[in-house]
Amino acid sequence: MGRGSTPQRRQVLAGMAALGATGAAPARRRPNIVVILTDDLGYGDLGVQGSPLIRTPRIDRMAREGVRLTDFYASANVCTPSRAGLLTGRYPVRTGLANDVIRQSDTHGLPLSEITIAETLRPEYATALVGKWHLGHAAPHWPPTQHGFDRFVGLPYSHDMKPLALYTAGAGGAVTQEPVDFPHLTERFFAEGLKFIEDNRDRPFFLMLALGAPHLPLDPHPANAGKSPAAAYGDVVEEVDARTGQLLDRLKALGIDRDTIVIFTSDNGPWMEGSSGPLRDRKGGAGWDGGYRVPFIAWGPGRIPAGRVSPGIAMNTDLLPTIAALAGKPPPAVELDGFDLSDQLLRGGKSPHDELVLFTDSKVTAIRTDRWKYVALSYYRTIALPLELIRGDGLFDVRADPSETYNLASLHPDVLADMKARLAKAKAKFESMPQAKR
Ligand code: MG
Repeated sequence: MGRGSTPQRRQVLAGMAALGATGAAPARRRPNIVVILTDDLGYGDLGVQGSPLIRTPRIDRMAREGVRLTDFYASANVCTPSRAGLLTGRYPVRTGLANDVIRQSDTHGLPLSEITIAETLRPEYATALVGKWHLGHAAPHWPPTQHGFDRFVGLPYSHDMKPLALYTAGAGGAVTQEPVDFPHLTERFFAEGLKFIEDNRDRPFFLMLALGAPHLPLDPHPANAGKSPAAAYGDVVEEVDARTGQLLDRLKALGIDRDTIVIFTSDNGPWMEGSSGPLRDRKGGAGWDGGYRVPFIAWGPGRIPAGRVSPGIAMNTDLLPTIAALAGKPPPAVELDGFDLSDQLLRGGKSPHDELVLFTDSKVTAIRTDRWKYVALSYYRTIALPLELIRGDGLFDVRADPSETYNLASLHPDVLADMKARLAKAKAKFESMPQAKR
């Protein structure tokens, strides 16, 4: 061995290794990242979000100990495109998955050319997806180990779709399956997530815990069944609350809570049950906030300050650039729509967004800026109705009127002109992108 083997040189090399391979020099260990993604949990379904019936003391405490974003949007109002946006940092229209959700007979999925959060964090991070995938269940898009996850335990799509099994995939590509035990599914997902955390406690890890709850049908755990004043839906959410608390407790018991950031959010608004709180409409609606705006809490006692509530606009496409920044990893060299929120989360900074674009399928249906929302499309009975056909433009001051009830277009002609220009620009940019369906 040459001069590289001197004790001083070895010490320097060890120090560099501790700082991380990119040389970005995080002063401490790279943070572990856990994303708890609920399915169809509405804006108003947590105590901290104003639910009058559902009791979520642990998630409420998590919010008090962390940062809560009040104006956080899913990137779609249904499951598949929202998850594509979350994992890639790009509006789902870019990945060809904007239209509808993936059905059992479909063979398309998240293109292998897309770069997920898991791929962005490799190789320094151990990565796992536990729970629902819904981004393609036919080769080559399946299983999720094709997209940067070292380990997968979960469902190919929503648990109301048949046939259904619980799949496990890991290194080597072997995929096994077993029957789904519905009342114990949330318990199983948390147990698998905790096992992954414990197996990787000594190195950075990224766990995406994509729960099936509280998507319908509801099968409460026997220990929770009949306990909530909100009946089965509440039973299911209250179980998620308790298990989220247990996960935070376990991180502390393992001594890694100060090296871990846990994010809690939802993939879209509530479906046939659940509450969008003060927001208008629900999952699968048109451009109204209730389909998109969801709870968002970031907790990380070593890095995220406690007790902050931020009204800055944000979207799940921000998770990839944010997590990459927190991890000291460069974002992928592709056009991202999300922004790094770390200043907003760590230091109370402003939102980096000038606007958010909302899509129904691959159509641009609304534009949100800090104060304003322009809504282009609504549904009446079964008709997708451009609002301009019935009452002119739809301009809403969402700070003063979060329910989007009063069209203020006539009072703010300058704002209206600006928002219509933004809409036209987004339509021209995005609506001609090729989609896998329809
Ligand atoms: Mg969903």
